Amino acid sequence: MKQGIKFYKTYDVKKISQCHESIGPKTLTPNSRLDRWSGINNAISDWLINDADDEVAIKVAEENFQFYDPLQRKIMSDLFERFRTLVPKPLPQVNIDFFRQEVIKEIDGEQKGMYTSFQYQLQDEDNSEYIKLKAGVSDLEDIDRAIVADTKLDGETFLTAQLIKDDFDEIKEPSNSKEIIESYFQIIREFEENRKKATPGLHCYMCDRPSRCGQYPVVDGQEPKSNFRGILISKSNLLNLETCERWTSWRAQYAIPKDVENESFEAELGQKFHSYSQKMLEKNKNIFGDKEIERLKEMLVDEEEKFSIQILKKYEELINALDNEVEDQKELEIKLSEYGLGFSIVKDGIVSNSKMELRDDKVAVTFMGQADLVGRYKGKGLVIELKTGQESNDDLTEAELYALGAKLLLKEDEVYVFHIYTNKDGGKLKKRKFGESEFDSIIKKFEDKAQRVSNWNPNDSLSPSFNVGDWCANCDYQTTCPEYR
Ligand code: SF4
Ligand code: SF4
Repeated sequence: MKQGIKFYKTYDVKKISQCHESIGPKTLTPNSRLDRWSGINNAISDWLINDADDEVAIKVAEENFQFYDPLQRKIMSDLFERFRTLVPKPLPQVNIDFFRQEVIKEIDGEQKGMYTSFQYQLQDEDNSEYIKLKAGVSDLEDIDRAIVADTKLDGETFLTAQLIKDDFDEIKEPSNSKEIIESYFQIIREFEENRKKATPGLHCYMCDRPSRCGQYPVVDGQEPKSNFRGILISKSNLLNLETCERWTSWRAQYAIPKDVENESFEAELGQKFHSYSQKMLEKNKNIFGDKEIERLKEMLVDEEEKFSIQILKKYEELINALDNEVEDQKELEIKLSEYGLGFSIVKDGIVSNSKMELRDDKVAVTFMGQADLVGRYKGKGLVIELKTGQESNDDLTEAELYALGAKLLLKEDEVYVFHIYTNKDGGKLKKRKFGESEFDSIIKKFEDKAQRVSNWNPNDSLSPSFNVGDWCANCDYQTTCPEYR
């Protein structure tokens, strides 16, 4: 590494590219995904350099998993085994330093750098192979590929071991690596000029400072500190909390890999309908105009017919439902779409440090979701949620989450929440209005939820209670959960 140069990890540059504020003082947020990655990396490193009989080397390496609960131990042990299958012994000479591929550029008179790292090097006389360990589902980022393409020398090969995908392959290098690197240096330049720019979005779900950045304000104004445990409960996890805490906690706290991904036609249609509707409605001053349906048809020309017909029908139902409620479009203003709204609550609870030691301390629980549309109605705050399924009791909790989030962040004294349903029964709008007395009872309700989350032992994924019921049929963990099987 060159002395005196400010280097950024590609992981951080990627985060900066989504939101400048995401790099800043955090809470002590246990990141089970990252902790497990470190445990697996330590086990692989120990195994690679241990010349003992393989059975002994594996046993010694697995001691790295001993402080984890049985479920996480099993996940780590499985991934470790996958690595040994992808990269079997005997191996050429092995080095286990962190190897960095770096690029440097002068920005405003100062040298800045970016680097991507590789965990293991296999070396023989003519060739060096560098291996990047990936233990999650995410693919390698474009900037990592570009740095490899820009810096590799003859006789060097760069590979990823993507354990979950059973994939051990040479990194595919983009043809426009120089452009990609240049664009990320530009992102660094913009970040250094304005570090305080918050840009909420789906990436908030992966952020470790949602209770500190101001986007999800703390209800009593308390300021979370770096020694608090932080945890983020997304809207869907929040809704599962009332049925089975294990389901919520496995997603929110322990990052247990899901058994199945929902890739149904309905799910895809729902996503597409949201996306087109948001494009049509955001900042639109002529929502009920005669030519609006034609405009949507033009947007849909490249869409598959099985989707476009349904999207058009649902959008017409949506507009009719909205038209029945709104007397004058001047009263309605839709300013934002897919906007992060929510709030944080600080409670006494259990906190773990990097050595997995537990102590009683404060826990900052952030509840948040991406509101479909946000604006104003009759001079008050407005959140619109688009639903392609049936009405549900969960919709009230969702409305409460967004209403309190809008009050605190957008300083609204009253907030309307519209749920607009477009399902097999046609279009329907359900209106709720929240004011001071409702906000008090919402806070009480969510304080109870925050307390339950704060009591989870962050080191033990089997500590939160489980509750078997009809909802198990929709759970992400039907195979992993021992009680359901
Ligand atoms: S929670 Fe979202 S808005 Fe806040 S810092 Fe993180 S990414 Fe940015
Ligand atoms: S399968 Fe049922 S009991 Fe098990 S985590 Fe899921 S919802 Fe809970």
